[in-house]
Amino acid sequence: MNAPLNISMPAEASKAPKAYKLLIDGKHVDARDGRTIARNSPGHGFTVSRYAQAGEAEVEAAMQAAHKAFETGPWPRTKAAERAAILLKTADLIEAQLEDIARLDALESGKPIAQARGEIGGAIDIWRYAASLARTLHGESYANLGDAMLGVVLREPISVVSIITPWNFPFLIVSQKLPFALAAGCTAVVKPSEMTSASTFVLGDILMQAGLPAGVVNILAGLGADVGGPMVSHPLVEMVSFTGSTRVGKMTMASAAQSLKKVSMELGGKNGQIVFPDADLEAAADAAVFGGFFNAGECCNAGSRLIVHEAIADDFLATVKALTAMVTVGDPLDDRTKVGAMISADHLTKVAGYVAVAAKDGSNVYCGGGQLASNAGQYLDPTIIRGVTEDMAIAREEVFGPVLSVLTFGSIEKALHIANNTPYGLSAGVWSASIDTCMSVARGVRSGTVWVNTFMEGFPELPFGGYKQSGIGRELGKRAVEDYTEEKTIQFHRGQRTGWWVG
Ligand code: NAD
Repeated sequence: MNAPLNISMPAEASKAPKAYKLLIDGKHVDARDGRTIARNSPGHGFTVSRYAQAGEAEVEAAMQAAHKAFETGPWPRTKAAERAAILLKTADLIEAQLEDIARLDALESGKPIAQARGEIGGAIDIWRYAASLARTLHGESYANLGDAMLGVVLREPISVVSIITPWNFPFLIVSQKLPFALAAGCTAVVKPSEMTSASTFVLGDILMQAGLPAGVVNILAGLGADVGGPMVSHPLVEMVSFTGSTRVGKMTMASAAQSLKKVSMELGGKNGQIVFPDADLEAAADAAVFGGFFNAGECCNAGSRLIVHEAIADDFLATVKALTAMVTVGDPLDDRTKVGAMISADHLTKVAGYVAVAAKDGSNVYCGGGQLASNAGQYLDPTIIRGVTEDMAIAREEVFGPVLSVLTFGSIEKALHIANNTPYGLSAGVWSASIDTCMSVARGVRSGTVWVNTFMEGFPELPFGGYKQSGIGRELGKRAVEDYTEEKTIQFHRGQRTGWWVG
């Protein structure tokens, strides 16, 4: 029996929670009915933030502000160079506040502070990348339509975008959407998760400080049904950019379809890492632990299925287990922590339930498996489950916790079958020294990203998104700004038009 985790209380615990107001039309406002949402730090248990809680009236006000800013404000008409300058200034201001923002995300989500710093660093890079795309966004021209005709295809901002984000990477995910929408000249209403809204409010302040005109970005904290729902169905919105669960994504798409809004969907994953005997097994074992337990497994890209060749399974898993025992679980604010707290007690119960069902279904818990005792907060022991078969829920459903399911294979065909045997298709990893093996897996896996002899790296230059029920569309990459545009075809005719229709 391990000693209980000893979580120290940070300075914030003895202060009043930080209060955040909604950002509507450039002003910080309370909800009309005065309601607020309190957020407890999942790693420590005290109330860290309190946000004004939006409802339908605030959605309406935010939509009107975004619409006005689009129709009559300067932003869509501003030169790309000036838009890019504001995005770059935003990146600089985020950089100046990196430590504070990382701390907010760590306190509200329970993620390790060192990791949170990395995420804010990644977000800064994305804001700068989006600034470069703002300046290269362009349409097409066709001078090959006959001497009298010139075809021009413009890219215009799509107008008001609803941006809805989840709790697991609060600052990073809004930064995968908003800078590109802004680069295109759109205006936006943004709803972060009701559990991790603080850093998005800080971003709102930074944008105002960087010189973004009022109403271009409006930020609402609130519940999915009260705020997210009306943000999706609202008639003034032309596009919904959603990251979250496949379940809510499907509801969102169904609602958006009623008025034929464009949707971008980044949803769940059930990703496999496939390990062949000829791989660098030391590196693969480290990546298996990283893939399974990074962000406490609360990660769309988690390598939650370890698909190992039978010939090496016992030895390889012994190494993975030994590395798992070395993973530091505990206080999110401790620089040494690799696995922090679970987002909520309910979520912890759900994840533990998956482990219990898997054990009942005949698999065996190879290490971990339960809640860790602690003086504060909620923590799960990194868990490896062996003897998982493809039909088990733990092999098919997104568990979203620090739980690694192990399946084995004897042939490349079987490995691919296992990897593809899920409704999801977000990402996958393959470990082998053979280029033939790597290429066969990379080509054969149906997922939006495949990592070859590495895992879960990310670059703004590379498109990211899912096959199958992991999503629709791609974020990042050179076309990320285009996603927030409409194409307009203009046909210019020169001289007198000939070829009358009548007469
Ligand atoms: P969630 O679907 O419960 O919530 C996501 C957002 O949608 C939240 O802001 C929530 O308030 C809002 N929402 C809830 N109900 C709504 C409704 N009826 N209408 C509109 N909005 C509503 O997801 P979560 O639990 O916050 O996040 C975890 C999920 O997100 C996991 O499934 C994970 O895989 C996924 N995710 C995907 C990616 C990706 O890039 N593919 C990245 C991160 C997380």
